[in-house]
Amino acid sequence: MGKKKVLVSACLLGRNCKYDGGNNYSEALVRYLKEKAVEVMEVCPEVEGGLPVPRVPVELVDGVAINRAGENVDACFRAGVKAVLDRIREEEITAAILQPRSPSCGVEQVYDGSFTGRLVPGEGMFARALRQTGIPVFDAAAFCGKGREDYVRHFEELIR
Ligand code: SF4
Repeated sequence: MGKKKVLVSACLLGRNCKYDGGNNYSEALVRYLKEKAVEVMEVCPEVEGGLPVPRVPVELVDGVAINRAGENVDACFRAGVKAVLDRIREEEITAAILQPRSPSCGVEQVYDGSFTGRLVPGEGMFARALRQTGIPVFDAAAFCGKGREDYVRHFEELIR
């Protein structure tokens, strides 16, 4: 049997696709994925949707992607989600590990749309779309610390 395929937010792998031109590289996550010998598919839905790097930061305001300058960038967000879903349509994806708090990739929490740093329970647009297509989504933070052993075990059962 081939390796299990796992989608991973590209910024976690060191790709400079974040809004500020940087990344969210996680050495712990990269080491973990190597140890588990999964096939990693990196994705950045915002860049795939045509947004530039760097770009004005975006939050979800009542579910709509709006940037800090007040511009509606929802069409780019939706285009990015569609582009990734189209690209993986023929792939057998086991799960996704995604960057916390992002309006695209956030799995458990997102910023509340006020651009004041306040977090609320919720998920990003891309995370939701994956979950709705039946791909289990995981918050990357759980793989980089202690206290989420059951959560990580669930992921490991899927990739077995
Ligand atoms: S859209 Fe996802 S992968 Fe791209 S920079 Fe934001 S959190 Fe990272």
